[in-house]
Amino acid sequence: MAIDVLERGDLPFPRSLPEFQRLFADEAACAAYLERARWINGFVCPRCGTFGEPYRISTRPGVLRCRKCRCDTSLTAGTVMERTHTPLSVWFWAAYLLTSQTPGMSAVQFQRQLGLPCYETAFQILHKLRVGMVRPDQDRIGGTSGEHVDADETYVGGRTRGEGRGVHHKSIVAAAVEVRHRQRDSALNNRRNSRYAGRVRLAVVSDRCADALCGFIKSVVAPGARIITDDWSGYAGLTKHGYDHAAVAERGDPLVAEEFMPIVHLVFSNLKTWLRGIHHGVSPQHLQAYLNEFTFRFNRRFYPFNAFRSLLGIAGNVTAPTYAELYAAKS
Ligand SMILES: [Zn+2]
Repeated sequence: MAIDVLERGDLPFPRSLPEFQRLFADEAACAAYLERARWINGFVCPRCGTFGEPYRISTRPGVLRCRKCRCDTSLTAGTVMERTHTPLSVWFWAAYLLTSQTPGMSAVQFQRQLGLPCYETAFQILHKLRVGMVRPDQDRIGGTSGEHVDADETYVGGRTRGEGRGVHHKSIVAAAVEVRHRQRDSALNNRRNSRYAGRVRLAVVSDRCADALCGFIKSVVAPGARIITDDWSGYAGLTKHGYDHAAVAERGDPLVAEEFMPIVHLVFSNLKTWLRGIHHGVSPQHLQAYLNEFTFRFNRRFYPFNAFRSLLGIAGNVTAPTYAELYAAKS
């Protein structure tokens, strides 16, 4: 049974739509939730450090006023909701939709679901929440005993539009995914195969040479981890880089890799379906952001509560970068 690592008894997470509506019925309920998320032991004034019940203003549920210094503290300060005029309940509903709908949503679907009269507002909310998704997960995967990492690369996208044969704009995406084994006494163990995917990392790489592929592995997989790849020469240097590397001889037969590395192939297949189905093809300059979103969803598919809090920016003292900052850092 998966338990969200940040789960707190005083911050229940809805498991169903009726539960969501009950928990986050109005602005006051959402504000109370934000308050508990930020101050586990009760309000502390960020200005003067006074601990104790603040003044509450009934017409402004998002604001707490210190009894001592009389300064107002906004509950949304430092979160993705900071300085917006959209009701908290709309933000909560948006984040819930985004984390519980596996394939993701278009801004039009979003506008309809949120009941917003203005498309632009729906677009802005979606845009801001996605910033939390496209921030790359930083820590390196693998390295747990009894597990290994599958690594492989694939071509993504790039339809030719009347540019002649042989011309394509395909990008190469490298993947590393943890392969875990279910416990023997698990109820799911009567499946054909007890292997399942742990965390994944995905990156656009410039080509299939050793520099690109080994460079990717070194940036995302813990040193010393056991790694299984096909026998492509681009991975031959992994042992030299300190990994416990095994290469499966494909000999040109893709079925061999399907058999020995089913998990990474499943990830690629899901990724391509998602890119095609939701976003109708993605331009190369935005592909990495979409890979990060896919990674966010995939790695948190058992942890909706963590995903919900990450998106709203209340998962800790994390300052979310803006879209502009993200892309500026890249170029
Ligand atoms: Zn104060």
